[in-house]
Amino acid sequence: MFSEEIINKFKQTPTPFYYYDKKLLQLTLDTLKKAADKYGYIVHYAVKANANLEILKIISSYGFGADCVSGNEVKQAVDCGFSGDKIVYAGVGKSDKEIKLALELGIFCFNCESLQELEVINSLASECGKKASVALRLNPGIDAHTNKCINTGLEDSKFGIDFNYLEDTVKFVQSLENVKLIGLHFHIGSQILDMEPYRLLCQRSNEMQQKLNELNISLPEINLGGGLGIDYQQPDENPIPDFEKLLDLIHQNLKVMPGQRVHFEFGRSVVAQCGTLISRVLYIKPAVKTNFAIADAGFTDLIRPALYGAYHKIENLTSKSKETKTYDVVGPICESTDVFISNLEMPVTNRGDILAFRSAGAYGEIMASRYNLRDIPKSYFFNND
Ligand SMILES: *Cc1c(COP(=O)(O)O)cnc(C)c1O
Repeated sequence: MFSEEIINKFKQTPTPFYYYDKKLLQLTLDTLKKAADKYGYIVHYAVKANANLEILKIISSYGFGADCVSGNEVKQAVDCGFSGDKIVYAGVGKSDKEIKLALELGIFCFNCESLQELEVINSLASECGKKASVALRLNPGIDAHTNKCINTGLEDSKFGIDFNYLEDTVKFVQSLENVKLIGLHFHIGSQILDMEPYRLLCQRSNEMQQKLNELNISLPEINLGGGLGIDYQQPDENPIPDFEKLLDLIHQNLKVMPGQRVHFEFGRSVVAQCGTLISRVLYIKPAVKTNFAIADAGFTDLIRPALYGAYHKIENLTSKSKETKTYDVVGPICESTDVFISNLEMPVTNRGDILAFRSAGAYGEIMASRYNLRDIPKSYFFNND
């Protein structure tokens, strides 16, 4: 829902662009902080969801940590005010250069995904006379019941170390001089709305801890990753995800030993609803079964529908018509997959109308590309504070 004042600003601004609602972001962060503080849980924002400088600065000002998946993300997080000792760094393919950078910046923890990676981190840390703190990213073999493109916790996924190898991996880490094992890490997928996978994750984590206890090992950190979903269908009714419900469930199901700290890495749930892609309709082209509404935004601006078949609610903000028609909203890119939605009932739409692609704050702007030599979309907050 946008005020007339904001819609007027949209009308005066060249499209396509991202609009971020700073107030909603702040409300979301307040809600998350309250839910996490209730149990002393530590939150790291998953930078890959949106690395916009303003957004990172707002999030870091709340004292949250950062979850990074590349050296450049680690650097950008530090540049935007995240403290190095609150940064966790995951990824199946960390390069030597990235590992060295993270060691230099003194990050809190490497979330490691293979034995060979542990070996490399050990030797690079030894070269610069440091001891790297690491957590083992375990693949818990859990189906997060989400889109298969963003399901990461199944045994055939490239992510993590199979939980069956826990014992061998721990023994191996203990043989490394410049690596210190501080925790276990999990991340089972994204856009998860069903709480059952999280309950199973707690169970799996409890089993892993039990195993470690039998080996007389206790680790101070346990990181359950991110993945909480948002309501793409009804962004106005549910603008803020139910962090409390998830964290209450974790509290009830996760066994935590004295002194042990619990971490999360939320991305989408923090930033998705505050972002909207704003676009203008260039042309209307009637076809046999539908009408094409050709927007000036394409998958180079928002790739989720083309990449995962994802849904974004699309609204015509300027049509005054009481009548509706059926539209396929498509972009200008020279690819048949450049379709945002098919068969959408929308008020009669004309050239020049402003379209809002809702819930686009996560995995939107950051995935923009220059294919077709298009411009990267700009972003605006319109100082709504
Ligand atoms: C992508 C990712 C996240 C964040 O996932 P969301 O679904 O955006 O919350 C957290 N942890 C890791 C390791 C990730 O790769």
